[in-house]
Amino acid sequence: MRKNRKIFCNKCGKKFVMNKDIVQEGIFNMEYMWGYFSKKDGEIHSFDLCEKCYDDMISQFIIPVDIRDSNEMI
Ligand SMILES: [Zn+2]
Repeated sequence: MRKNRKIFCNKCGKKFVMNKDIVQEGIFNMEYMWGYFSKKDGEIHSFDLCEKCYDDMISQFIIPVDIRDSNEMI
């Protein structure tokens, strides 16, 4: 049981606003297991970014992220 869990933005260190273990603001949560052809085979990397750091990160992409409306999936 993880009561009063704190989550921080890995990039800027900002603490996310939480209420009953639910993040009350935009958060980008990433968890990725590297595969066989990488140098990190079998390692699971995870991190969280606040919305500002996420925007900063994707603003450096040469090709923009794909954005879809989740309502289309329903
Ligand atoms: Zn941040």
